[in-house]
Amino acid sequence: MKNVVIAKHPATGETIDQWLETGENQIPEMYQKASAAFQFWSTRSLETRLTFIKKIKHHLLENMDEIVDEICAATGKVKTEALTADLMPVIDLIAHYEKRAPKILKRKKVSTPLLFIGKSSYMDYFPLGTVLVISPWNYPFQLSMTPVISALIAGNSVILKPSEVTPTIGLLIEKIAREVNLPKNVLQVAHGGKELGKALVSGTPDGIFFTGSVETGRKIGVEASKRFIPYTLELGGKDPMIVFEDAHLKRAVNGAVWGAFTNAGQVCMSIERVYVQHAIHGEFIDRLVEETKKLKLGEDIGSLTFPHQKEIIRSHVKDALEKGALLLTGKDPDQWGESMYLEPMILTNVTEDMNIVKEETFGPVLPVISFSTEKEAIEKANSTEFGLNASVWTKDARKANRVTSKLVTGSAVINDVLVSVANPHLPFGGVKSSGVGRYHGDEGLFIFTRQMSVMKDSGIKQREINWYPYENKYSNIRTLIKAYFSNSKGRAELIRSGIKQLRKK
Ligand code: NAD
Repeated sequence: MKNVVIAKHPATGETIDQWLETGENQIPEMYQKASAAFQFWSTRSLETRLTFIKKIKHHLLENMDEIVDEICAATGKVKTEALTADLMPVIDLIAHYEKRAPKILKRKKVSTPLLFIGKSSYMDYFPLGTVLVISPWNYPFQLSMTPVISALIAGNSVILKPSEVTPTIGLLIEKIAREVNLPKNVLQVAHGGKELGKALVSGTPDGIFFTGSVETGRKIGVEASKRFIPYTLELGGKDPMIVFEDAHLKRAVNGAVWGAFTNAGQVCMSIERVYVQHAIHGEFIDRLVEETKKLKLGEDIGSLTFPHQKEIIRSHVKDALEKGALLLTGKDPDQWGESMYLEPMILTNVTEDMNIVKEETFGPVLPVISFSTEKEAIEKANSTEFGLNASVWTKDARKANRVTSKLVTGSAVINDVLVSVANPHLPFGGVKSSGVGRYHGDEGLFIFTRQMSVMKDSGIKQREINWYPYENKYSNIRTLIKAYFSNSKGRAELIRSGIKQLRKK
């Protein structure tokens, strides 16, 4: 018996849609269909594949408002954020790869050392086969579509398992595929939860792209490694913001407010900790409180999406308050009630032993911590298990570069927040527990390919100099190696004549 997926609006609880879950018994057939579709799709030219992807871009541009409304109904986020951070990045990525994919995926000649005179070398990129994409609920459209589109451009067929927390996004993506007449089974959507995700991983994917929690990422990484399935893991974060006393204070405050509270803090790259240099700590907090109090629920701050996340946020705030933190804005967790809207919270008097400093909170809470020296700021910023993104705020460009280069993080931003993820030229991904691998940029297509390195000979000569027989070759080869690795002027000539002599043997 199949379960029914019941999609509800996170803030109102109203049922949006209901349909049947994908049964685990359907998985073998899904992979068979994906394999057959791969045979067709991978043999189309890149130009043909891009024609379909461009149709998706046009569809998104033509149906912006409807798609934004669907994203808002699934997540409870505000319209501006659905538009700018869930829909727009997909359009931008398509526009980027439209231009760039032919360069990224084409055969690349690489140079061949003089020692291999007469040969040439190149790299080819072939699709993997069927890619399994598993996505989370916080940017359910972008974090599904970006890997799906990248994998399709590279010539793969895709099975997408979107988050069960925002299930209508799976229906939306299926609809888009139909609207642009994407060939059958090139993209299939599996509707269901964790167990279905687990069963799909245990199926026969040729590559896995996962975005979600560290805990799930670890399980998927272990399972994929057992069968040497290539995988990319985009996991959680606890991003630090370091504000030096010479920073543009108003900009830093505005950046902190947006970086911490956009999408109600449910962003893998949210500012989850702000370290402020001692001299400006007081003024920074005053301004931060002032700006935060201006934010309007429902207009600037959307609802939380996942009830379970509310409990994690609650436990982090409670733990902090119990250990002596002060809540400067927002409500005490005991007064939150049933609402999925949380007023943004600023915490001070925060210490390193609090969960709010160590673990991913994924909600509208910003702990503010002071520091004295550059060294201390770097140590504090690097103190968690995460390494997704970070930001450094100062007018001193040398200091900014120096501090940034000491942060152990997959990406970083200077005098801004989050924005590095939005540049489609820049690869994106984490270090430490924040993930394995990169997407976006050229990497974003390479991860969905198997790379082949080829060396070519004209095939005319009878044999190579290092082949059998070895008789009497040792001293000539020795002389050749010496010449090859020397810096002498007549090096090239010596190598040529050395090779010639060896050929005669
Ligand atoms: P999650 O790990 O609970 O679920 C993510 C997806 O994995 C869902 O589709 C879920 O059904 C599926 N899943 C769960 N268990 C599985 C299993 N054992 N095998 C296969 N699939 C399984 O994460 P979430 O709560 O949906 O997402 C929030 C997390 O995602 C946060 O930690 C956030 O930081 C992270 N995230 C990271 C990025 C990034 O780019 N690094 C972006 C967004 C979110």
